[in-house]
Amino acid sequence: MNVQASLINLGRIEPLACQNLIDGERVANGAAKERRNPSDTGEVVSVATFASLDDVAEAVAAAREAFPKWARLLPQARADLLDTVGSLIVSRREEIATLLSREEGKTLPEARAEVTKAGQLFKFYAGEALRLSGRHVRSLREGIDIDVVREPVGVAALITPWNFPIVIPAWKLAPALAYGNCAVLKPSELTSGCAQLLSEIMVEAGLPNGVFQMVMGGGEVGAALVSNPEVDLVSFTGSSVTGSKIAASMNGRNAQLQLELGGKNPLIVMADANLEGALDAAIKGAFYSTGQRCTASSRIIVDAAIHDRFAETLLERVKGLRVGHALDPQSNIGPLVSEQQRERVLQSLDNAKAETSGEAWGGSPLEGATPGHFVQPALFIGTSSADFVNRHEIFGPVASLIRADSLDHAIEIANDTPYGLSAGIYTASHAAIGEFRRRSTAGMLMINLQTVGTDYHVPFGGNGESGFGVREMGPEVVQFFTRSRTIYVAG
Ligand code: NAD
Repeated sequence: MNVQASLINLGRIEPLACQNLIDGERVANGAAKERRNPSDTGEVVSVATFASLDDVAEAVAAAREAFPKWARLLPQARADLLDTVGSLIVSRREEIATLLSREEGKTLPEARAEVTKAGQLFKFYAGEALRLSGRHVRSLREGIDIDVVREPVGVAALITPWNFPIVIPAWKLAPALAYGNCAVLKPSELTSGCAQLLSEIMVEAGLPNGVFQMVMGGGEVGAALVSNPEVDLVSFTGSSVTGSKIAASMNGRNAQLQLELGGKNPLIVMADANLEGALDAAIKGAFYSTGQRCTASSRIIVDAAIHDRFAETLLERVKGLRVGHALDPQSNIGPLVSEQQRERVLQSLDNAKAETSGEAWGGSPLEGATPGHFVQPALFIGTSSADFVNRHEIFGPVASLIRADSLDHAIEIANDTPYGLSAGIYTASHAAIGEFRRRSTAGMLMINLQTVGTDYHVPFGGNGESGFGVREMGPEVVQFFTRSRTIYVAG
């Protein structure tokens, strides 16, 4: 295990001032909150003025006011604006990615990939704005035709987490606006700087006032936003606990809800698998991005015939992972996002160690060359499905190995969780792949691939406690961001 000591001079930046955006105006009435670099807590990355409850109400009112005009705008005009947003994001990739690494703690290559995808998403939904169509149906009655058209819903509240602070706002905003809704984004309080850059780009692209608003802050601001009766759509990504609170608070409201929540994703490795590929998938899927991904491969289920050999090699690789400053090119893994998150992960690892039927390696706090929230990766070997480590989403650099006696047994273990986001298998057998495809209960299946890493032009989302409502991304999300109208025409 190497903590990065070979730190190059990474410098520190001037903090970015982040302000709410309401009806085209920057609004900063409240107290300012500092956000420090999780790789180097001596650096203040951004200073954000959180929204008041009045600010939230004004943002929703401005979106409501802007909605009729935006909804009626010709699709080409909406497409051009979204395409410009995409181009501006890509043209500022290096600046956004560097801030993302400083603010969230993922490594620069991961941050760059995220920013690129955010730009591509806006361009994809620019095209989708043009492709929105309905269908023509013959009536069951003589002399009548029917058109089923799709139309925008109204005001969308978009609540996003810190772990993908550019791409998750992008994958909610781009379709919301493309299909003619106005939006209020409430980004995570830990990544206001990334949201600030995105909001600057939305303004620079020339979006009309009120079409896009941003209110910054934590749970209180989010709760005020989702409970505003003028909000028609709520799209939330975050923890299952917050998702349940939002669902409960919306009970009885006439608003549509989309929840993307946590995961406890299995990666099955069969004896006939490409073991090099499987090891790489296990390392990158479980530990990269410091394990802070909803699709992380936190449960690795290995065929008994190769289990011990696989465990030994995987442990060697885990020991070789380099943890350090997110901007240091030598780092494989950055810090956890905050001290609170580090405390939470360390507490979960203590619980997991106390309640495991196997053996644990790693998982201690680490001192870096800079003061940051570093944690040594952890690997649990010889665990059982009932262990704490296999039942809780720890959201840190941790994986467990579970031995499976057969393919049947492996699939049974893979499905043994209330979550159902992503599930993977490594095998050379078509029959095993077929069996896995038919029986896995997850929303996304990865065959000879990591459980992480998805495309934006197809649906993303999970079953069980991993999600609720229409899946995000792909053209299918039109079902969430529009509603149908049926028109009967006689004569
Ligand atoms: P979180 O639930 O703590 O916060 C998410 C967002 O909700 C933040 O913007 C937060 O300020 C806001 N919020 C908190 N309380 C609220 C309330 N009562 N009402 C309205 N908004 C409220 O989650 P997090 O710690 O930011 O993110 C980590 C979690 O997100 C993990 O569980 C992870 O699995 C999940 N996640 C899921 C996906 C997915 O697509 N399935 C993707 C990324 C992250």
